[in-house]
Amino acid sequence: MNHLAYKTKLKLNNQQKTLMGQCGGYSRWVWNWALDFKQKAYGEDIKLNKSQLRKYYTNYVKPNYSWQSDLSSKIYQYAFVNLDNAYKRFFKGLAKYPRFKKKGKSTNSFTLDASGKPIVLGGKYHKLPFFSWLKTHEKLPICRTKKVTFSEQAGDWYISFLIEVDFLPVEKTREKVGVDVGISKLATLSCGKVFENPKAYYKAQNWLTRLQRDLSRKVFHSSNWYKARLKVQKAHRRVANIRSNAIHHLTGYLAKNHSEVILEDLNVKGMVKNRRLSKALSDASLGMIREQIVYKCSWYDTVLQIADRFFPSSQLCSECGHRQKMPLSQRIYRCGSCNSRKDRDFNASLNLENYEALAAGSVALRSVDKEVPSPLDESDGKHRSDVQLCTTLS
Ligand SMILES: [Zn+2]
Repeated sequence: MNHLAYKTKLKLNNQQKTLMGQCGGYSRWVWNWALDFKQKAYGEDIKLNKSQLRKYYTNYVKPNYSWQSDLSSKIYQYAFVNLDNAYKRFFKGLAKYPRFKKKGKSTNSFTLDASGKPIVLGGKYHKLPFFSWLKTHEKLPICRTKKVTFSEQAGDWYISFLIEVDFLPVEKTREKVGVDVGISKLATLSCGKVFENPKAYYKAQNWLTRLQRDLSRKVFHSSNWYKARLKVQKAHRRVANIRSNAIHHLTGYLAKNHSEVILEDLNVKGMVKNRRLSKALSDASLGMIREQIVYKCSWYDTVLQIADRFFPSSQLCSECGHRQKMPLSQRIYRCGSCNSRKDRDFNASLNLENYEALAAGSVALRSVDKEVPSPLDESDGKHRSDVQLCTTLS
């Protein structure tokens, strides 16, 4: 059984939107109250756990605020749970110390459940606790969940929840596939399939710059400033959505249709440090690919192999095993030994497919050209590691 996170946009009327805002405000209010109270108690050497804090709040604080009784009591209960989790993450060293939430700056969100009963969603209209019926833009399959979280992003509200899914083993169409992840093309597969990079950011750059300029000309915190800021936020969200959609499409295809996926070790951090490449690389979101492929392969019983960082996938000839330098500008691999010609990325993906044999035999690796690599192309992080291999071998 796997957990799948689902998040989709809600279609709300104004009344519902206002109510959502109130609930989000309530959640934030309780979070801030609890954080403040906890800190003050700590200053007097009193440590309070989640249930003590909640008991005190329910008996002595909540009755003083009548507006809170109009909203679901689940909201404040989950605010305590969330704060407690934030503290746990902090003590484990996974997150920063919990901070106070500011209206308009922190994400507006809250969680609801149906007191132990399952919440069933399906179609476009969903019966939810406290809100009764809410509509989503997207038609959902029938799914059951224990709790739902609402969050606001760039002026729109989203609902998210976890569902338990049993992934049935699917029939694989291909045994092995090597994947060359790149910048101009998102990925080239050894079966010949190419996934284009939507380059969402590049395409949207002018548009984003214009919106950003509009925003900077408005009077800070004026109503026109808020309107312009919303436009900027929406544009950024759109870019992020396009990017994430393309990556989900790729990783899903890889994990579902193959028994084994062989991927380069993408040293994301090292590559993004390089300024000239960083924008393009962040655009391709290599980290996201790696992250998704790991969990999707586990869903579909697919073996994932990550090729060694020093494996010279783009320098080897996939036909004869000859090795030669391949500056990034060279888009076609013309083998100096057997004269075969292949697209650079396709050639690399074929080498990745044969990674095991190549790495085990090291046949190809030993036939390294003795010639000394030229001063490195600064923009090519991938090749730097390849060249390191040359030097260690010679
Ligand atoms: Zn060759």
